[in-house]
Amino acid sequence: MAELSTRFDVSTLLRPEMRDLEEYTPIQPFEVLSRRLGIPAEQLVKLDANENPYGPVPAVIEALAEYNFYHIYPDPEQSELRDALSEFVGVPAAHILTSHGADEMLDYLCRAFLRPGDAIVDCPPTFGMYSFDAGLVGAEVIEVWRRPDYSVDVDAIEALFSQEADTVGRIKLLFLTSPNNPTGTWLSDEELQRLLALPAMVVLDEAYVEFADLPSRADWVLAHENLVVLRTFSKAAGIAGLRLGYGICPAWLMTELWKFKQPYNVNVAAAVAGLASLRHVDQIYAVVEKIKAERERLLEALGDVPYLRPYPSQSNFILCDVIGREGKRVKEALERKGILVRHYRKPRLENCIRISVGRPEQTDRLLAALHELA
Ligand SMILES: *Cc1c(COP(=O)(O)O)cnc(C)c1O
Repeated sequence: MAELSTRFDVSTLLRPEMRDLEEYTPIQPFEVLSRRLGIPAEQLVKLDANENPYGPVPAVIEALAEYNFYHIYPDPEQSELRDALSEFVGVPAAHILTSHGADEMLDYLCRAFLRPGDAIVDCPPTFGMYSFDAGLVGAEVIEVWRRPDYSVDVDAIEALFSQEADTVGRIKLLFLTSPNNPTGTWLSDEELQRLLALPAMVVLDEAYVEFADLPSRADWVLAHENLVVLRTFSKAAGIAGLRLGYGICPAWLMTELWKFKQPYNVNVAAAVAGLASLRHVDQIYAVVEKIKAERERLLEALGDVPYLRPYPSQSNFILCDVIGREGKRVKEALERKGILVRHYRKPRLENCIRISVGRPEQTDRLLAALHELA
């Protein structure tokens, strides 16, 4: 055996791009954290992953308990769910593809459009999955950094596309997020129009759009052949753990993605939960309104914490600059009290924490803890 394994290095069979990938650093599951901190899981104030603190609407739990066909494979076309989504987003079902979270759509798009040597345009600071998925395919990530107010630098992106033809030809996908994670900033109609005029496929990630004051651009795909809009049930609908997302795509791209999609990518539990959610959209929006009201209260209260400078947000989280002390220390001190927030220490987020909007009593615990640290 020993002799056999020295004859050649099996790992050389892997795609060469794999070697350039960074190793994945998993987050601590919150049950593990609860044991480590000695605080029961239900007492943790989990404000680190933009989950919905209210969970799904009650009808979801009932529908999951009552469903009797878990032993049957799912409908690969997800017709019932896509019809319900069509009502919800106001775009024909033929333009909607459901997925195992919006994350799976990102993976499909990267694998459908990118080969090694191709490129994406990414606008950091933003969600990490765009560069992650592009990296898996061996594509280059061209970063166009956001402006100081975290708006997208549309001029710089346009300038990128006025370079030599061989650079421009390699750029396939342009990733935009509105509202953006982790900054909470919004992309205007005018900015989006300008970017759609460029010769690239524009992927507009609207994971948080239900929390914004401005409407979704889902129906723009009917007028723009180079636009995909991504949405999810993870944030507003409160079923992040069940993994259900969807892409709203132009007709030509749907034809291609149907060839590409795993037939059973959406499991039956996710579909049941999605359908039950869509029958109670009014309740989801009632929860969204509660979260938005709490966001405004949290924003104002964070402004009174002497070492934090919060940014206004169109989403269910608030980004804060930490002033005159280490953000990491703040995160750790909160963690010891059972309050979890996200900490950043990277370019343009040099010393920041991001706080998801929780229930009012969770906000109260957070604020008390922040003032104790002052
Ligand atoms: C949370 C998040 C997603 C992921 O959505 P899933 O449906 O849970 O995969 C996508 N985009 C952004 C910007 C997010 O923050």
